[in-house]
Amino acid sequence: MLQAGSTIGIIGGGQLGRMLAMAAARLGFKTIILEPQEDCPAAQVANRQITAAYDDRSALQALAEACDVVTYEFENVPVEAAQFLATQTIVYPPPLALEISQDRVAEKQFLNESGIATAPWRIVDDVQDLIAALSALGERGILKTRRFGYDGKGQVRLTGLDNEAAAQAVGTIRNAPAILEGFVEFTREVSVIAARDKAGNVRLYDITENIHKNGILDTSAVPAAISTDTAVACARAAHKLLHALDYVGVLGFEFFVLDDGSVIANEFAPRVHNSGHWTEAACAVSQFEQHIRAVAGLPLGDTRRHSDCVMQNLIGDDVLQVPAILAESDAVLHLYGKAEARPGRKMGHVTRIKSEK
Ligand code: AMP
Repeated sequence: MLQAGSTIGIIGGGQLGRMLAMAAARLGFKTIILEPQEDCPAAQVANRQITAAYDDRSALQALAEACDVVTYEFENVPVEAAQFLATQTIVYPPPLALEISQDRVAEKQFLNESGIATAPWRIVDDVQDLIAALSALGERGILKTRRFGYDGKGQVRLTGLDNEAAAQAVGTIRNAPAILEGFVEFTREVSVIAARDKAGNVRLYDITENIHKNGILDTSAVPAAISTDTAVACARAAHKLLHALDYVGVLGFEFFVLDDGSVIANEFAPRVHNSGHWTEAACAVSQFEQHIRAVAGLPLGDTRRHSDCVMQNLIGDDVLQVPAILAESDAVLHLYGKAEARPGRKMGHVTRIKSEK
């Protein structure tokens, strides 16, 4: 168990690192951010920034020497960097979780081997593979790059066995190694924010219902409009995944809900998750504090929700709404300290608490 005053290293300097650093500070810890970009959102609220590439060996060495434990805020941390750090200090979540989540094929294989249902899928390395995969999966699917896809980037929707369309799709993703996923006719998208400590204790927050716009998360609402059976199915899958990974920390796990209430896993992120931001406003212990507790070896906190709420991302020009949001009652605003509001850039979020009437 880390004593107050200990130092936690965070790889990645974005808003998730920022909110982790703030939660760490509340628990009496210091934080050091490893991030190549100067004056990043996380470093603005941390004790120190090591300004270097994520795979810079001497920077990683310096981080390991200065920290009692190291964690990360994004899933594309180079696996070799996390593995190297793990030879020098404690790294949570385990680098294995990074490795699996970085490759959609490894992720689907791991989920299926852990007894968790996903959309049917095929590996696609060229146009022939794609045509074969489309005919195997009902002539309809989503082509996704195996690596570095996020917020709907690196994805192409396909219908029918059209050679020209297939060639175009493979060109769109620049011939990158890919996967074809069967198209899931879902009724809603939900996620669960799950935490596990070193001893194997698990705590889950309430299931969140997510709505995306232009491939980016727009709103997350709790409670989700799902049955108890559906919630239990998500919780079961989360338990299975956390234990299979021998996970320590918080993880975001996304699902599709089908018409009959059953669920299909979409993907997981081995980190705090945008769809869990509402926890800072509607729970005594936020996902950020929960993650810091887990990696610091402190007891996990209560995940009960004291209010219903809706979190809305503030993307690009949405920040212009800030004065109006500040005038609302029951709105909890969080801005990320980013100077420039570029289109598609997450600038902050607001959680609107539904107060009891
Ligand atoms: P992803 O980056 O894999 O989370 O995909 C982005 C979004 O595309 C998801 O949130 C869904 O709305 C949609 N999507 C992804 N995979 C599928 C699928 N197999 N079937 C239907 N819709 C999907």
